Amino acid sequence: MEHQPTDRVHDILSKLTEARQLPTHDIEFLLSWVKTEVRKRRLMHLLEIFSRVESEVRDLPPVLSQAEANALLAPVKRYIHTILGIDQEDEDLVLVLAASFSTFSRYKSRIEKLGARPVFLQTLEEAVEYDYEDVPKAIIMDVELWPNFLERDIQSFVSKMKKLYVPLIVIGTNEHYRLAAYSYGFDDYWESWIPMEERLVRLGLHIEKARLVSNALLVDELTGAFNRKYLKATFGRFMSRLERSGESFTLALLDIDHFKQLNDTFGHAYGDEVLHRVAEEIRLAIRSSDELIRYGGEEFLIILNVSDRAVVDAVLERVRTRIEQMTFPYEHHVTVSIGYTRVCQLGMTLGEWCAYADEALYKAKRDGRNRIIRYSTAVRDEKRLAYVTMSSKKYALLADQLPKQHRRYEIVYRPYGAYVCNDHVEMFILDESGSSEARTMSAVKEQRGKYSHILAVTARTAAELGLYDDVSETDGEDVITEKIEQWLEKLPD
Ligand code: GH3
Ligand code: MG
Ligand code: MG
Repeated sequence: MEHQPTDRVHDILSKLTEARQLPTHDIEFLLSWVKTEVRKRRLMHLLEIFSRVESEVRDLPPVLSQAEANALLAPVKRYIHTILGIDQEDEDLVLVLAASFSTFSRYKSRIEKLGARPVFLQTLEEAVEYDYEDVPKAIIMDVELWPNFLERDIQSFVSKMKKLYVPLIVIGTNEHYRLAAYSYGFDDYWESWIPMEERLVRLGLHIEKARLVSNALLVDELTGAFNRKYLKATFGRFMSRLERSGESFTLALLDIDHFKQLNDTFGHAYGDEVLHRVAEEIRLAIRSSDELIRYGGEEFLIILNVSDRAVVDAVLERVRTRIEQMTFPYEHHVTVSIGYTRVCQLGMTLGEWCAYADEALYKAKRDGRNRIIRYSTAVRDEKRLAYVTMSSKKYALLADQLPKQHRRYEIVYRPYGAYVCNDHVEMFILDESGSSEARTMSAVKEQRGKYSHILAVTARTAAELGLYDDVSETDGEDVITEKIEQWLEKLPD
């Protein structure tokens, strides 16, 4: 019986990349399994994230498209990769950008026979996002998609992929496109008359070449930091030193604050540039005996050769302030949050240590970002904060009857003015929509869908704001109190 869930989990994970659609009950199964796993490991913030995904699933139709399911389950997949070591990562990824699923399916099983994992995508953006997690071994693009893309987007896509040494192939139709493809910088062009056998031989050669390159590369091209492959070896080296001489060390996870917003405002190319410069700044702030690894998209892992708390705090503080003080072409600042843990005992995996650092990082985000938090049992067991934000007027009316106790959460009521963006669990009661709240509302809007629940108390506020999860027909005190109670009841524990 024991192994059965994992079989089914494997099955669902492969459906996620292969199938066109995924029934919601599979997703529910995956979520409940993964929740049991994180509960066992006491990774409370992951539990919170997965519970949230679970509550989103409840409102979805019984079957999801592959893209929807993948977007929904991104955090879950990532957890499974890094902590449970179910390694899809080492499998070679081949992205197929095609106009229709039928084009994709013509290649799917054949690509698998070449020992690679095909993924069906339809936009350049999806392809770029994919590569934040794992660099593909080849990208095949259907020329029929071209009219959907802007010329300059294709150009920047090609130049980005070329920097990563990803072979780029076009499934073409005629001579005209062939020239265009080569001048964009694509590596290969399959005209319609080229038989499938030959296409596969060519693809095989491209993949093989990309494998050679990627095995030789230990450095992430975009940032100049080491990559995850290097991390595995290096962590092993630090562990055997610990075993030999008892010297412990530090794993710190650093994540850029609000990076998505920066991308959205200035574009991905600019985001890449910022990422590169931040990596450089970190390198300048640590010593040569420390290690800098690009851990994920905009996340870095720093291995510090030391574990003395005062020294570690000083080094990481130096990293944090140097980044905060950087200047950029567009006038903005970049801050980072850091979570770290001391590695001082044998027997735990890299993934498990990273989960500790991540738990601390998550607290740093929650506490307002741009700060450093050390992992401890206190971090692990901390009672979460649940904020309820409303106008002072409403609060004055309701104060006596509001629920005050919760087994997992400390409930904090606060006025609009006190709202700051963070990852706390929040509920907003939109009982007024005067201009004084405009700032709060736009901040809320940014966080929308991430960690908040918004209750519009009157039809008017609902209509004016256009963002809410819930409308209460009246603004009667009892109704609002009841809504708050219901919300608290549904919070993950
Ligand atoms: P938080 O403070 O909570 O970390 O907010 P955030 O927006 O940084 O967090 P989130 O993890 O939601 O988003 C990270 C974004 O970083 C998602 C992705 O679009 C972007 N990103 C990841 N890798 C790269 C990259 O290599 N280049 C660029 N330009 N953007 C990247
Ligand atoms: Mg991140
Ligand atoms: Mg971030």
